[in-house]
Amino acid sequence: MNQRIIKILIPLLITTVFLCGCTAKEPAPAGDFQQLNAYQETYLSLFDTVTIVKGYAVDEKTFQESLEPFYEEFLLCHELFDIYEDYANLPNIKTINDKAGAEAVKVDDRIVSLLLFCREMYEVTGGAVDVTLGPVLSLWHDAREVGEANPEKAYIPDMDELKAALEHCGIDKLVIDEEASTVMLTDSEAKLDVGAIAKGYAIQRASEKLPEGYLISVGGNVLTTGGKEGGDTPWVIGIQDPNGSADSFIEKVSLVKGSVVTSGDYQRYYTVDGKNYHHIIDPETLMPSTYWRGVTILCDDSGLADALSTALFLMDKESGEKLVLSQGAEALWIDEEGNEYYTDGFKERLK
Ligand code: ADP
Ligand code: MG
Repeated sequence: MNQRIIKILIPLLITTVFLCGCTAKEPAPAGDFQQLNAYQETYLSLFDTVTIVKGYAVDEKTFQESLEPFYEEFLLCHELFDIYEDYANLPNIKTINDKAGAEAVKVDDRIVSLLLFCREMYEVTGGAVDVTLGPVLSLWHDAREVGEANPEKAYIPDMDELKAALEHCGIDKLVIDEEASTVMLTDSEAKLDVGAIAKGYAIQRASEKLPEGYLISVGGNVLTTGGKEGGDTPWVIGIQDPNGSADSFIEKVSLVKGSVVTSGDYQRYYTVDGKNYHHIIDPETLMPSTYWRGVTILCDDSGLADALSTALFLMDKESGEKLVLSQGAEALWIDEEGNEYYTDGFKERLK
């Protein structure tokens, strides 16, 4: 994982950035009895991106101690949901993929809950977000790795190969036994890819171990556990301009407690003959979707926000709006020309 992380860090774009209006150790207003200060911690090795946690505490030691249960949970989710690496004595999603067609794998409850949620999201998104699309996604992943490392060798996966890979996809190939806590893929060529959902799901879970009034930013996913300093003051989250640099914002939204998650075509992509190919693949065309430059979701649950940001990226506005509102969430869409469209609830939260 480390080499991949280092590679990612160099061109890293944090697409949704928090603007908290305070820097570490800046004095904050006093609480009832104790003066609180702002602190921040950064982790570089989780979920293939940079994680930043911000919060308020009486001193650095107290802040660091408050992060421990969060970090432990987040690290465990990172290892359990990994599709590329093995970890000693820890069956994970990769183990399920490796044993596809052969045997059911006994896994931690977190994997069972994640995959049940992924299956629910498959239904909710009408199959747009499909965790069993692994065989197709891995052809795109391999092509991107080659294209990033050797731009002169960049290629688009062969359509016949993509179609052949699709034969081994299908949510019916994923068998989850909740009682036994086992998971099996019934086709030996089947493969899970939880990239569209796992990060948001993990942040949600891990955030429940943090005090109120903290902010976590993991790549394009931001979650807050309450207003700043545990009060009512909202955090301000910047949404990156798809045509701008990582620190140029097209919009800002205020958030007390909840999640803001973005999927964009400018996050992970490679170039073939001057054309960019990004990482969100339309199961209908087996090609990167072309509806939007970016979609941002605002909602209470980060796992749902992650699933919906990928899903809306894969559909037209009418279908997306219907879907997002049915889930009690709000959305912002940005198209090729830079036009912005919002649900009414999203508009109300703009700063
Ligand atoms: P990011 O992880 O960059 O924040 P997303 O949440 O939108 O962005 O997830 C993109 C990832 O989801 C891809 O890297 C890939 O692993 C996976 N993915 C791409 N297309 C689909 C799809 N149609 N269904 C399920 N997963 C997908
Ligand atoms: Mg997503």
